Amino acid sequence: MDHLSGTENGRVDFGAVIEGISCPSATGATIEMLAPSDGTSFARIPRCDAADVGRAVVCARNALEEAPWAAMPAVERGRILSRLSALILENFEELAALESRDTGKPLRQGRADITAAARYFEFYGGAADKVHGDTIPVQEGFLALTLREPHGVVGSIVPWNYPAQIMARVAGASLAMGNTLVMKPAEQACLSVIRIAELALDAGLPPGVWNIVTGFGEEAGAALANHPGLDFLTFTGSPEVGTLVQEAAARNRIGCTLELGGKSPQILFADADLKAALPVIVNAIIQNCGQTCSAGSRLLVEEAIFTKVRDCLRDRFRALVAGPHDRDLDLGALVSAEQAARVEKYVREAREAGIALIGEGSVAPDTPEGGFYSKARVFGPVPADAPLAQEEVFGPVLALIPFVDEAEAIRIANETDYGLVAGVWTTDGQKAMRVARHVRSGQVFVNAYGAGGGVELPFGGMKKSGHGREKGFEALNEFSTLKTVVFNHG
Ligand code: NAD
Repeated sequence: MDHLSGTENGRVDFGAVIEGISCPSATGATIEMLAPSDGTSFARIPRCDAADVGRAVVCARNALEEAPWAAMPAVERGRILSRLSALILENFEELAALESRDTGKPLRQGRADITAAARYFEFYGGAADKVHGDTIPVQEGFLALTLREPHGVVGSIVPWNYPAQIMARVAGASLAMGNTLVMKPAEQACLSVIRIAELALDAGLPPGVWNIVTGFGEEAGAALANHPGLDFLTFTGSPEVGTLVQEAAARNRIGCTLELGGKSPQILFADADLKAALPVIVNAIIQNCGQTCSAGSRLLVEEAIFTKVRDCLRDRFRALVAGPHDRDLDLGALVSAEQAARVEKYVREAREAGIALIGEGSVAPDTPEGGFYSKARVFGPVPADAPLAQEEVFGPVLALIPFVDEAEAIRIANETDYGLVAGVWTTDGQKAMRVARHVRSGQVFVNAYGAGGGVELPFGGMKKSGHGREKGFEALNEFSTLKTVVFNHG
């Protein structure tokens, strides 16, 4: 394709992608992209507004009706997505470095995210022609069947924490079902999303099927959410903006899925294999600097082992080092100065409230000035009603909460507004199953956390973590609608 990308004063310019063309915003306005590792500007993206969004929605509507996409045999759509998966892998190191620089995450995490993005397109490419309807037994002389059809034009708003992964799970499933797409990635980090949408055109995706409008949330994001030309909306991000998106969907009387984060509990029983559990528990809060909707941010510890666990975690957290993305340390940088300030505010307020700081990591001594860093921290015991136990910090801060027995563990686990993911650590299989059944969350891992699979597993919230499911085969149902057809054959 024709790329807008060029370099000026060492910064790379990226374009929006509308009707298969890399383009500036209608006004020519841009947004500077700051590298979280040192706070310097290294790229620019178009600052799209309502006019750009309107143009992208018209293109997506035309592509739905005119491009051979919804009407293309599902196997052909699948092949294009599979080719995109292969192209992502061909450009793997470039994309991983871009994701890592843009978000501040260590390079190994950038690589893991691009691997996952390729896997989403592989999975949904293979699944596109395997979505079946049903036949339904009805009265003699009639044949009833169901067909899965695309919603039409899907609007998607993507956050900054895992741009490539969250883009890929939405684009993979929605395009596999024959929808067209207008996507608004986050202004803080979105460069991999633009590059992969450009690669999709090289893979054979017809122009206009997948459009990217970059820009600020209140400007491009709000214009997209409120656009009357959409047939479906999907949003991942903060509860506040999720509420606005759902209100907009309600006004336009369309469906929407919301993924709004969590305060996920890991429940550690006294009979657990601590050697296996603790490294996973630590990783679940420091991965991506804690900026993960499924971060295991609450550790519920059975009282009998509380002191032992506290002392082990003190040592582990003291050894954790944050630093620039390309040094691949335990933690990278947070995405922005605002995010770093938000995390520090939670830490300060917890200390002012008298909650004990058990252990604290460090920032590497030769780290550049101007980066957005946060030390890993573990606090405890944290009262179950404290902000650290109730609110999504979105930083590398773990809250230890003691419990006396299974019933209390379940009660505390369920005592937040959220219900996204939970972990249960015990060698008692029956107890594990009882707890898994009683915890209100969209996913539960037993003696593991976020492992064993990913792309294949339906993912989404209970309670105020949102609604709808992405990932896995279930997302194909979410990104399609059901038509019932009845034949009178006499
Ligand atoms: P956000 O909800 O403001 O941003 C997410 C996306 O929504 C971005 O693309 C943004 O541009 C867009 N957006 C912002 N305002 C909008 C509006 N009025 N209308 C339409 N779109 C809009 O998230 P944030 O401010 O970047 O982060 C704040 C908090 O949100 C985080 O600290 C965290 O708790 C949560 N968060 C959760 C996830 C998740 O995966 N669940 C991801 C990112 C952020």
